[in-house]
Amino acid sequence: MSEEPRPLDCLRCPSFCCKIAGYVEVSDYDIRRLAKFLGLSKREFEEKHIVERTRRGKKHIKSELAACQFLDSRRRCSVYPARPTDCRGYYCWEAKDPAVYRAAAFLQVPIRVQQKEDSKA
Ligand code: SF4
Ligand code: SF4
Repeated sequence: MSEEPRPLDCLRCPSFCCKIAGYVEVSDYDIRRLAKFLGLSKREFEEKHIVERTRRGKKHIKSELAACQFLDSRRRCSVYPARPTDCRGYYCWEAKDPAVYRAAAFLQVPIRVQQKEDSKA
């Protein structure tokens, strides 16, 4: 039987989750917090930073396949203190889709450990 994926060190990761983990939805509360952090009104924030809206009226600051607009050149979140709830609760090792975890683990878990885990799967 396979073991639970091990937690990874986010500081040693090139932020795969901010690049490839899917869209990031923002609530009204998230928008107010982000707007305040950036010194914008809610309306200004939405005009500038909402990249897509769903048919059900959900708002996204990151679309499914694009890197997040708030990822800086050092691969850090430039709005970290005000990051959305979606981001606060995301850990690739807990995600249903294992693709991001596999990419992140490949870069920071020694090959011998990965082989040992694969052999148990
Ligand atoms: S992909 Fe995983 S390890 Fe990398 S920053 Fe995101 S949660 Fe952390
Ligand atoms: S808001 Fe920050 S933590 Fe969330 S996806 Fe964008 S860069 Fe990553």
